[in-house]
Amino acid sequence: MTRIFRFAPSPNGELHLGHAYSALLNGDLARQAGGRLLIRMEDIDVTRCRPEFEAAILDDLAWLGLDWERPVRRQSEHFDAYATALERLKAMDLVYPSFLSRAEIRAAAEKPDWPRDPDGAPLYPGHDRDLGADEAAARMASGAPYAWRLKTDAAMETVGRLTFTEHGHGPDGETGTVTADPGRWGDVVIARKEIPTSYHLSVVVDDALQAITDVVRGEDLFHATSVHRLLQALLGLPEPAYRHHGLVRDAEGRKLSKSEGSTGLRMLRDAGATPADIRARIGLPAPQPTPST
Ligand code: GLU
Repeated sequence: MTRIFRFAPSPNGELHLGHAYSALLNGDLARQAGGRLLIRMEDIDVTRCRPEFEAAILDDLAWLGLDWERPVRRQSEHFDAYATALERLKAMDLVYPSFLSRAEIRAAAEKPDWPRDPDGAPLYPGHDRDLGADEAAARMASGAPYAWRLKTDAAMETVGRLTFTEHGHGPDGETGTVTADPGRWGDVVIARKEIPTSYHLSVVVDDALQAITDVVRGEDLFHATSVHRLLQALLGLPEPAYRHHGLVRDAEGRKLSKSEGSTGLRMLRDAGATPADIRARIGLPAPQPTPST
C-alpha cells in the first residue's frame, strides 16, 4: 500500500521554524516510505486566510526543498463536502445548534471546578441541547448567531471505545495504541452559521477524501485526535495512523506563533540562511537519497 502524507498549513500568516519542521518531517517520512506527499490549505476561515499568505507558504516550502503533488487542495473550495458530512450528523441527531456567546460561556464557567478542555477553554454548558426543534429553528431564523455542536457523550455511546495508533508521542509520552478520550472536549463546535464547517470536521473529511494514511503533525494537536477518531467512526471514514511530534520552541520555551519575526522563514531567508541551515537549526538530518525499493 502506498502511504500518503500531508502537510496542512492555514494560510493566515507566514511560516516559522515549527511549520518548517512539520513540513520537512512529512517530506522525509514520505520519501523514506516511497510514499506520496500532499499539501492542503486549511483556509476555512476566509476572513483571516489570504491568497498572498498561501503564495508565500508555497514559495517557502519549495525553497526548503519540499516536493509535493499538485494540485494543492484548498478547503475553501470544498464547503459542500463538509456540508454533506454535517447533514449526516444532523440525521443521526448527534448535533444541536448552540446560541451562547463566548461571554455567556465564560460566565457559566465561573462556577468552581467548571471543567476545561485540553486547551484550557471552559466546556460548553449544553443549555441549548434541550431547546426543542421548534424553538431552535425559530432562534436560527431570527438571525441569532449559532454553532452546531456535537452531542459528544451520545456520539461516544453510539460508537463505543475508540483507539488510535500513535507512532510519535503525546504531551505526556502517550504512544502505541492510545485510547481516544473525546469527552475531555465536551460538546465541540462542528460548524458555524458563518463558517459552515470547523477545523475538526474538515480535517477528517479531507484526510478521508485524500486517502491520507499517515497524519504527522505537532503534539499540540494530539488531544484533537480523539475528536477526529470520534468523527471518523460516526461518518464511517478510515483511520489513518498518527505521529505527533515535539514542537520547536523559542529561547523561553514557548511555542512559536505566526507573529514571531525572529523565527519566521522569511526573515531567516532574508538574513542569508540556507535550507541546510534551517534543517540543522531544527534538528533534522540532511535529506537522504530516496530508497530504491
Ligand atoms: N491547519 C492546522 C495548523 O495549521 C494543522 C492541521 C492538521 O495537521 O491536522 O495548525
